[in-house]
Amino acid sequence: MANSVLGNSTSNMTGSVSFTCPSCKKEEIIRTRNEREIVANYSCKCGFTGPN
Ligand SMILES: [Zn+2]
Repeated sequence: MANSVLGNSTSNMTGSVSFTCPSCKKEEIIRTRNEREIVANYSCKCGFTGPN
């Protein structure tokens, strides 16, 4: 189970991952393990949304 697919920093704290918004490349988006498991949508201040 590799989280490296996102190609950015990962944290082992609670299985959460954080990555820079692929759209504006400014905002950091943090997703928890649970959010990924349920494929929760995320959104950025720039208006970018999506599951990854
Ligand atoms: Zn953004």
